[in-house]
Amino acid sequence: MNERETLKNVDGKLVVGGVSCESLSKKYGTPLYVVDQCYIENMCTVFRDTLKSEYGDGMIAYASKAFSCKEIYRIVNRMGIGADSVSGGEIFTAKSVGFPMEKICFHGNNKTLNELNLALDCGVGLIVVDSFYEADLLNSLCEQKNTVQRVLIRVNPGVEAHTHHFIQTAKVDSKFGFSIDNGDALEIIEHVQSLSNLKLEGLHCHIGSQIFESKSFILAVEKMTDFYKLLKEENGFEFDVLNLGGGFGIWYADGDSKKSCNDYAEYIKLISKTLLDCVNRKGIKKPFLILEPGRSIVGEAGLTLYTAGAVKEIKNVKNYVAIDGGMFDNPRFALYQAKYTVVSANKLNEPKNFKCTIAGKCCESGDIIAEDCLLPTVNTGDLIAVLSTGAYNYSMASNYNRNLIPPVVMVKDGESRYAVLPQNYEDLVRNDV
Ligand SMILES: *Cc1c(COP(=O)(O)O)cnc(C)c1O
Repeated sequence: MNERETLKNVDGKLVVGGVSCESLSKKYGTPLYVVDQCYIENMCTVFRDTLKSEYGDGMIAYASKAFSCKEIYRIVNRMGIGADSVSGGEIFTAKSVGFPMEKICFHGNNKTLNELNLALDCGVGLIVVDSFYEADLLNSLCEQKNTVQRVLIRVNPGVEAHTHHFIQTAKVDSKFGFSIDNGDALEIIEHVQSLSNLKLEGLHCHIGSQIFESKSFILAVEKMTDFYKLLKEENGFEFDVLNLGGGFGIWYADGDSKKSCNDYAEYIKLISKTLLDCVNRKGIKKPFLILEPGRSIVGEAGLTLYTAGAVKEIKNVKNYVAIDGGMFDNPRFALYQAKYTVVSANKLNEPKNFKCTIAGKCCESGDIIAEDCLLPTVNTGDLIAVLSTGAYNYSMASNYNRNLIPPVVMVKDGESRYAVLPQNYEDLVRNDV
């Protein structure tokens, strides 16, 4: 466990935001998403203040695909940061709670006509163009509406990083962005510059997710500023904005480094320092810096509570603990074998002597939450907690097998409240014809 003030072992019981998981499960039932509001607020503060003190002009835009609901937009707005959205639904959700639309950066490799119309009508601050088709479509929509939209272009700097590794290649096969190395990026830049209803403010890149290696961020900054320098010297283009995306790695399980909220400042310091150095060294204009952390703001804030059901011991082979949730609330193991730490929420001080795989209740063999966990002996009815589920869990949930998506409860200072209400069976058939 990566313990902190708001996630503690108190006499063998797991307590989050001052509330015991046991009392949360009694009050709200399981499966249940629990979100530590203080953690999110601390992360926003650390990122916002570090960017300001280490770099200056810039904006943290919370990548809301990690966890999107009305309450999270209210919280990040109160914390004074912007948001990145990737769909009309996310824009609509943010707008419905009065989120300042000029602080939204709209991404996506295939934004639909309806989504672009919505973004323009809402007054979204920046739209990140990701194809020639989109550039032309957006320009003609702006012409019809008689407006000029500020845009960035997504480029692919040839640095790709995931988890603990990164590769530097001239990789040109990504569905996202325009490759710098093969000349595609320059071509779209020249095209967008020729469109009179788009104002090109700068470039965007996002090199991956769950990245620990600082070298990959340094390399991305070097590549992007090399390109800014080239564009200035050879094409006379100077940009005011640089958006370097997100991707900061968090703690999920053994092998991931454990960080406190303050430690996360290191990512921002590193990028700021590298960028300031590049700006001076390469003689380019100091850009307004946008960073888009998603996972790191909400990931460790969340945990999911389940109740153990069937415990199946396949002699000399494997033990399964089946829970009342599964891939419908957390599809990340099924998608890409994501690792999680699982604890027995009321038995934290008992010896861990039972090796088991936590299985979901869906009709899929691949419906697993975590493999080979070490827990104290598990009995039916035990409260099981899966940690670091704040990012890409609720936002990836589905009604597969017509299971109900669990509610989300926020905890802070010993109090709890719903952020997302529970679904019921009527909700499932609401749109059925
Ligand atoms: C997903 C995404 C992010 C956030 O990535 P995290 O790993 O959650 O920090 C930021 N920017 C863009 C464009 C993304 O697609």
